[in-house]
Amino acid sequence: MTFKELEIIEPILDALRAEGYTTPTPIQEQSIPILLQGKDLLGCAQTGTGKTAAFAIPILQFLYLDRQKNHGPRKIKTLIITPTRELAIQIGESFSTYGKFTEVRNTVIFGGVKQNPQTDALRRGVDVLVATPGRLLDLMDQGYISLKDIEYFVLDEADHMLDMGFIHDIKKIIAKLPTERQSLFFSATMPPDIVDLSRKILGNFEKVTVKPEQTTAEKVEQALYFVSKKNKPKLLVHLLKTETVDSALIFSRTKHGADKIVKILEKAGIPASAIHGNKSQNARQRALGDFKNGDLNILIATDIAARGIDIEELSHVINYDLPNIPETYIHRIGRTGRASASGIALSFCDMEERAYLRDIQKLIDQKITVIENHPFPGDDEEETTESSQKPQSSRQKSHSSSAGNSRTSNNRGNYSRNYSRNKR
Ligand code: AMP
Repeated sequence: MTFKELEIIEPILDALRAEGYTTPTPIQEQSIPILLQGKDLLGCAQTGTGKTAAFAIPILQFLYLDRQKNHGPRKIKTLIITPTRELAIQIGESFSTYGKFTEVRNTVIFGGVKQNPQTDALRRGVDVLVATPGRLLDLMDQGYISLKDIEYFVLDEADHMLDMGFIHDIKKIIAKLPTERQSLFFSATMPPDIVDLSRKILGNFEKVTVKPEQTTAEKVEQALYFVSKKNKPKLLVHLLKTETVDSALIFSRTKHGADKIVKILEKAGIPASAIHGNKSQNARQRALGDFKNGDLNILIATDIAARGIDIEELSHVINYDLPNIPETYIHRIGRTGRASASGIALSFCDMEERAYLRDIQKLIDQKITVIENHPFPGDDEEETTESSQKPQSSRQKSHSSSAGNSRTSNNRGNYSRNYSRNKR
């Protein structure tokens, strides 16, 4: 299957060629025909599958064809809601890239920065608006934005929206949308509250599911280090100094923890930056920009800040803390091993996190290779005293302290210590 066979118009085909896209990804192959027929879509897919192009291409195509006929002032005809600023920026960039020969204009609005440049862009006229919910509602309240001309509505990363408490904002936004519209709803997971929300948004829809979970988990080489909480900093420094790590995205459960890791690494002479909600938008963009263009090799992030960020050829993901929601593990390791590249995901697991580990291994249906031969193994004494206060995972409230205790080697047995496969 080619993009041409999907009946994509020449100006977009040219842009895709310039990007080096030769074949559509599965979500693109399945979604584009549905969307070009004007139908609503429920996409069960996560970032990394090519879902942005799956919705951006047909929307750009409609808007381009529409502008060929109607040359009046630009109206906001497309609204894309996404949970984080970084994702919003990335989606805006994708629209600019795929639409560079279409003259379709987009702008991105999000909180944490001055609104003037955003309102100026809105005043100049845009066809596509990419927004995070809070700033969108704010600018709507101030009268800068009307949704009355919306023809295409995309709710991206719906499960993360709900995790982040955006449900009321989303409902307020939906209430302002015209009923005549084409709606697209994307979510990596489909728990009942998401299905409920999708019913409120979608009319007669078609569903497309791509399962990157298994693919991601299979493609990424995963390894696990049992280590006491107090030895995690030493293990991290040791790995970064002894292994060939071209670039690493390190996940911390908390903002404070992320800052602490930066300090630990700086003390060890390893330059690093952190991105999280307490950093200014400019600082986040700078760190992310440096990381993406290779000026910075180590980036520490919380899950929310890192959500969906797309970094080409990231060699390592390091889970300094294991996530308590197993799907988050898949999202995290999916930052590496993108497109056709392979990647390495290293996870630290202390005694308190064993229940999380068990849930993760159950979800990926895989035992992660345990690296036993490292200088900072789990401290038994600490583990014994801590095990009595071990938190329980969100999924499994009745784990025993032996949860996830398997030190068996991975049945895939293919973890290699050649860490330098993805060159920047
Ligand atoms: P997304 O899931 O939208 O975040 O896309 C993940 C990555 O795949 C991005 O870096 C895109 O540039 C890239 N991508 C999307 N579609 C294609 C394609 N058809 N061929 C090659 N790369 C693609």
